[in-house]
Amino acid sequence: MTARLFRSAKADRNRFIVLYVSMAIGLLVAAGLFVYEARIIVADGLRDEEAFAVLGAANRVLHDLENAETGQRGYLLTGDESYLVPYREGIRDLDDTVLRLQQVAGSDERSLELVRRVEHAKTDKVTELARTIELARSGNRIAAVALVQTNEGKLYMDGLRQDLSLLLNDWRERRRVATEDAHQRLMFGSAALVAIAVLVCCLMGYTVYVQRRAFARVHAYSNALNQQAAQDTLTGLPNRRRLLSTIDALSNDPAAAKRIALLYLDIDGFKNVNDAMGHSAGDVLLRRLAESLRAATRQNDMLARVGGDEFVLLATDCGDDAKLRELADRLLSSVRAVGDKEYGGRFAIGVSIGIATFPDRVQTIAGLLDVADAAMYVAKRSGRSTYSFGSSPGPGLSNVVKLTR
Ligand code: GH3
Ligand code: MG
Repeated sequence: MTARLFRSAKADRNRFIVLYVSMAIGLLVAAGLFVYEARIIVADGLRDEEAFAVLGAANRVLHDLENAETGQRGYLLTGDESYLVPYREGIRDLDDTVLRLQQVAGSDERSLELVRRVEHAKTDKVTELARTIELARSGNRIAAVALVQTNEGKLYMDGLRQDLSLLLNDWRERRRVATEDAHQRLMFGSAALVAIAVLVCCLMGYTVYVQRRAFARVHAYSNALNQQAAQDTLTGLPNRRRLLSTIDALSNDPAAAKRIALLYLDIDGFKNVNDAMGHSAGDVLLRRLAESLRAATRQNDMLARVGGDEFVLLATDCGDDAKLRELADRLLSSVRAVGDKEYGGRFAIGVSIGIATFPDRVQTIAGLLDVADAAMYVAKRSGRSTYSFGSSPGPGLSNVVKLTR
């Protein structure tokens, strides 16, 4: 049993190591995966913001130019200076907005090229607008309108719109890709998280199962050890330790038992068998005697082997003395029968029995064993193969056991 428990404990320990290492690896992989995915999602977010800024700056350039153009058209048509307010505001902001566009969209060659073209178109357009306004201011409105009618400015604006539209499409696409990528990674991360959570839960569940099984084994083993510690290995009967703990339990709850009798048995002439036939023959005889005594007694009564050839029968609810005498005679006959059967009367095998009863002869349950032991010696001295009743010493009769045959 010990070797088996040791092997299974070793296997459980290895299982625990594998489980904990697997859990640690699972958690490390999960953590690594999440850090990696989180970094990419953050990068996707930055790319999205960058694209958003490019889109904003590009629209702002167009907005400023359209403002400037609207102001120019109004002034050319009416000659009213107030129309030049949006023109001036547009021109004033344009340099900044184009610069901003260069900054936010200057991360790749194609965008840079488009921004350069936008800048050229913007410069040409601004020059065209300024020339028409100068002409109108100098009183040459017809020449200014004629300049507008050449469609030179419209061509600049068309080119600029086209380039801005290419830039916008590029960056919209980048934004879409970044958003989609972040979304996919979020989905993948969530699925991985769920899978790892399920895995860790399973591993934890299995760990609890293995742990419980290990505890159950230890419990069973400790029960078996307790059992062994309370059992006589030769006969399988309860041993002295178990008898004493039963007597202890009865002492703590005397009301549970009615009249209790304790019979102390010492086999007569046992040593002769050992001396003549050897120790192992003596062992065989002890086993036969145990079986025979067990068969002659009630199952509820405890028969224990308490020493070499000494047995004790603890009978709770034993009945009156007549019943005890019957019991003692039955025990005597069964021992003699074993001796006759095993050795055909070659050895005079008998038994001397000391009997103590609670509460009439002995006042405490704990005192039963000593009184019965002393009574057994009286039986020995009075010729063996007989029984004696013993009583606790009365007042003034210290250490004297009263015997009755
Ligand atoms: P008495 O009639 O006075 O009781 O004498 P006895 O021959 O029965 O011998 P006694 O009770 O004085 O001693 C019992 C002997 O039993 C002593 C010891 O050598 C032997 N013995 C003790 N334990 C064992 C055991 O487990 N197996 C065997 N074979 N012998 C044992
Ligand atoms: Mg003996």
